[in-house]
Amino acid sequence: MRPRRTVPLLLVPLALALTAPPALAAPAPARPAAPPPGECSDEPRDLPIWRFVDYREMRRELTRIERASRGRVDVDVVGRSNRGRAIHTATVGHGPKVFLVTSEIHGNEKTGTTALLRILKWLGTSDSPEARRVRREITFVAVPKINPDGAELDRRGNDNAWAEVQKDFPQLAGRPPAWNYLDGRLQGDDYTKRPGFDLNRDFNPDLDYRPKAEDVPGSPDRPGWFLNPESQVLRDVYKRLRARKGKVDVYVDLHHQGACVREDVKNRLLDVAVDYPPLPDKFFEPGGKYVPYARTYAKTYSKQLAISAFRGIEDRGYIGARYPHAPTRDLPGQARSSMALIGTGTVLFEVRGQTQTMGHRQAERFTRAVTAGLVRMLGDVSTGRVRTIDPDSFESLPGTREDAAARAFRHEHDLE
Ligand SMILES: [Zn+2]
Repeated sequence: MRPRRTVPLLLVPLALALTAPPALAAPAPARPAAPPPGECSDEPRDLPIWRFVDYREMRRELTRIERASRGRVDVDVVGRSNRGRAIHTATVGHGPKVFLVTSEIHGNEKTGTTALLRILKWLGTSDSPEARRVRREITFVAVPKINPDGAELDRRGNDNAWAEVQKDFPQLAGRPPAWNYLDGRLQGDDYTKRPGFDLNRDFNPDLDYRPKAEDVPGSPDRPGWFLNPESQVLRDVYKRLRARKGKVDVYVDLHHQGACVREDVKNRLLDVAVDYPPLPDKFFEPGGKYVPYARTYAKTYSKQLAISAFRGIEDRGYIGARYPHAPTRDLPGQARSSMALIGTGTVLFEVRGQTQTMGHRQAERFTRAVTAGLVRMLGDVSTGRVRTIDPDSFESLPGTREDAAARAFRHEHDLE
């Protein structure tokens, strides 16, 4: 097992993290330094992560932002992780379009949390015309660290044993663990004594789905089951927003990927790749398994949103790309896939490198790139410009170049 890193609970990293961008303008990244040349590896290592915001710092910062916003930002505890940590939403704006974002559904993919705190601070305190327009047109709902147990363990999975799930769902007694159960070694982490789940395979487009014995262990090309407290919390947040506002317009899921991926035009190491949902077109044709969702699936809108994010990333000088998207890739249990099937435009952000390969190296650069993509999306959604983007131009964005080893690794483990 990678030795757990001790994270000093200092204010310094947080202050650095949160004061770096101007607070009152749209977070305006400085010119990024070129990525350091040379070293790049997907081999798991024990690396420092103290530049990232840990759970306690995040809670303190949410409180601070809520207070500074004088009522604009509303922080709520919306549920608890399997180990009892509070999961929060931070809501700002009162517009008709709900814009939902999660970070750290995989706990070793951390830049999204800091990006969300920066955006909350901006929208909570700025009186700029842009911030005012976003608050007027959008209800922005951030769920930072949706997997706080995994985040504190600095690992992909949450902290939940199959026996605990069977206690919650007695109908699963005698069934083998769900296919996304982690109880071996993965990414340098030892799950044998402390197993967990890949939460981003636990979702289902039927928000009222209850686990059935015959649906477990399931498989990657079938929906998930809401077996875990954390995915149940996100489902309930989504359901409440839909009940209150009619629909959830946008969902963004903030992730990290392989450490050595490059954009395929100039062959540069990329900062963030974006993607629309992995749901093959053929299954929406007559007789296909997604036909019941053919009228609601938000594929076109998801592509428009992804292009908007890409433009935000590139316009600020960072390196964007399309995430690998084979036409056969079929992952309905991802949160973004399930939500897209029922009408929400969804985008995946994939920052280069996870903590076991990059530590916090380039954390500031990547955080600014993620922030730039999200801010652009908020702008384009709030003005309606996003609907004028040609969705087919997505295919002409730079793609992702992986070496053979990285591709084989991604296919085998599906570790986005
Ligand atoms: Zn991920």
